[in-house]
Amino acid sequence: MGRSGTHPGIALGLLSRPQTRPEDPVDIPLAHRWLDAVAHAVADRADHLTQLDSAIGDADHGVNLTRGFAAVSEALEGYDPQTVGDVFVRAGATLISKVGGASGPLYGSAFRAIGKALPGPTCTATEFGAALRAGLDAVQRLGAASPGDKTMVDAYAPAVAAFQLAEEPFAAKASAAAAAADEGMRATVAMQARKGRASYLGPRSVGHQDPGATSTSLIFTALAEVTAGTPLAGDP
Ligand code: ADP
Ligand code: MG
Repeated sequence: MGRSGTHPGIALGLLSRPQTRPEDPVDIPLAHRWLDAVAHAVADRADHLTQLDSAIGDADHGVNLTRGFAAVSEALEGYDPQTVGDVFVRAGATLISKVGGASGPLYGSAFRAIGKALPGPTCTATEFGAALRAGLDAVQRLGAASPGDKTMVDAYAPAVAAFQLAEEPFAAKASAAAAAADEGMRATVAMQARKGRASYLGPRSVGHQDPGATSTSLIFTALAEVTAGTPLAGDP
């Protein structure tokens, strides 16, 4: 790619970061596809999420996320992002403003942090992994939950670890993350809730799968599904 001329990236002194890297596995359309797939997945599984939340919460998780991610899809329609991060920042801001429950600010902060970590029009798998970790950090800063507290962190933390550990291509990393999130979700059944509404139940929260860990598993499964078949990093 030519580097002369008046490209705004050059004007801003971003010479060290090429403007376009066609070999990168993540671009703006992929970010859109992931969020749309999440909107479909949570709508399809809304009853299940709400059932889980009725056992140890207030039966609104499916409704919360269906409304929130439908609003995300709507907010992204006709939006002209300049970077991958723009897509996620807008998604996060929408979730924060549209979802009342704990999960709105938590997922909203996660996506906003993911977005802030991705300032280019494309990104590598490594950059995306670091962004996912920034999202997890944001969830933990806001909610103060640790692994084992029976929250979305129990699916999100192993998913990020698996994504970062797995070998490329991107699709293999996403698939490893989805499997780890699913396993983390299942492990919440045996846990006693120490954060969020479910913690009010004390030991009676044991024996139920956490709704937020379940939606996090859906989110990573959606990522694996939309990236299955993306070209290998470095392919021509
Ligand atoms: P609310 O609990 O306000 O009704 P939701 O039902 O939408 O909100 O979401 C509940 C989920 O949010 C829980 O299953 C849990 O995974 C997650 N959650 C709640 N509190 C926290 C927290 N402090 N940190 C991380 N996740 C949390
Ligand atoms: Mg709830």
